Amino acid sequence: MRKTGTIVLLFLATMLFAQNKIIIKCGKLVDAKNNKILENRTIVVVNGKIDEVTDKKVTLGKNDTFIDLSSKTVMPGLIDMHVHLEHETNAKQYLEEFTMNEADIAYRSIGYAEKTLLSGFTTVRDLGGTNVNISLRRAIDAGLVKGPRVFTAGKSIASTGGHADPTNGYRSDLMGNPGPESGVANGVDECVKAVRQRYKNGSDLIKITASGGVLSVAKSGENSQFTIEEIQAIVKTANDYGFKVAAHCHGEEAMRRAVIGGVHSIEHGTYMSEEVMQLMKEHGTYLVPTVTAGKAVGQFAKIPNYYPDIVVPKALAIGPKIQNTFERAYKYGVKIAFGTDAGVFVHGDNWKEFIYMSEVGMPFMEILKTATINASDLLGQSEFIGTIEKGKFADIIAVDGNPTKDIEVMGKVTFVMKAGEVFKNE
Ligand SMILES: [Zn+2]
Repeated sequence: MRKTGTIVLLFLATMLFAQNKIIIKCGKLVDAKNNKILENRTIVVVNGKIDEVTDKKVTLGKNDTFIDLSSKTVMPGLIDMHVHLEHETNAKQYLEEFTMNEADIAYRSIGYAEKTLLSGFTTVRDLGGTNVNISLRRAIDAGLVKGPRVFTAGKSIASTGGHADPTNGYRSDLMGNPGPESGVANGVDECVKAVRQRYKNGSDLIKITASGGVLSVAKSGENSQFTIEEIQAIVKTANDYGFKVAAHCHGEEAMRRAVIGGVHSIEHGTYMSEEVMQLMKEHGTYLVPTVTAGKAVGQFAKIPNYYPDIVVPKALAIGPKIQNTFERAYKYGVKIAFGTDAGVFVHGDNWKEFIYMSEVGMPFMEILKTATINASDLLGQSEFIGTIEKGKFADIIAVDGNPTKDIEVMGKVTFVMKAGEVFKNE
């Protein structure tokens, strides 16, 4: 009697705690960590996380779900380390700051987030917008909006008149004098305050604009816009809050200061010298290339009146150079993390970076590594994302065909799962 009771209890407990599995049969499984393509693998997902990757037969329980990807190539969800989900390029973009309310920007960003996720990017790092970004991340986390995991800088930090000063080019009575609260900081004290303000607002990391940039209404795309003391103060304060620091840089001197100052990544890096590459290797600094954005601005600048006059020469000079910078840095051995600057071109085209990176001789497997393992390292999230391994989030995508032979298939992702939830299965 007593024994039967125990058995019944055990049975009930098993029923209660038995977790439904998702069983994914893979055709090919790309293992970028070991530089291998594995055949005949099955992934078992429990509670949004990867429970097992096996070459043995997995029996399907009554309440389990089976997903057949046996005709596809399966890989970890992609990570884009440089996007702007609040914005997408268009001919009226410079007017939008006067015509769009925060709610307009927020509703618009929903579509961009969904497009990004459905194109296979299950995680992004947003490198600058407004507080809408932080709300968007919360809405995605709460399941209200379909989108990638977002790690956001919130508002970028610039010096007065710098690349991310929000009132550049305005009429003088509208220009005002934005301060650390709006992400504009001059001198060590204001830099410290600007970082702390991002913490208060709910940012995940810090973005600074260490040199001039292409799309701001300002003359130079490459001048240095922070002193090394200011950068050091930003990095030191960021470290107090567990923030990593990404530095937008085109100019060589700005890059040198940013790397010595301790930033974790250089974005774009256009006029990178060999000396800077050496410094980056010594400091372990990543380059996030954004070749796709470079190509895009070079093209848009040829359309009359697409950009303000002051932007056009910068776009024509800087944009087309970025692919070559990436090539030089890659061949020199600088660490690379995949990033596109999506928003500067249309969201969902992030995959084109795969093409541009392969054009200079980087093999698919290495590119995938920059978009998974390296990116998760730069995010400080290697424990949770970047590979298909036990204990990590079930962020899994698939393409038809073999990307090691035809990299164009990266533009046709047919399966997307984020944290065990299927968002696309064609
Ligand atoms: Zn950007």
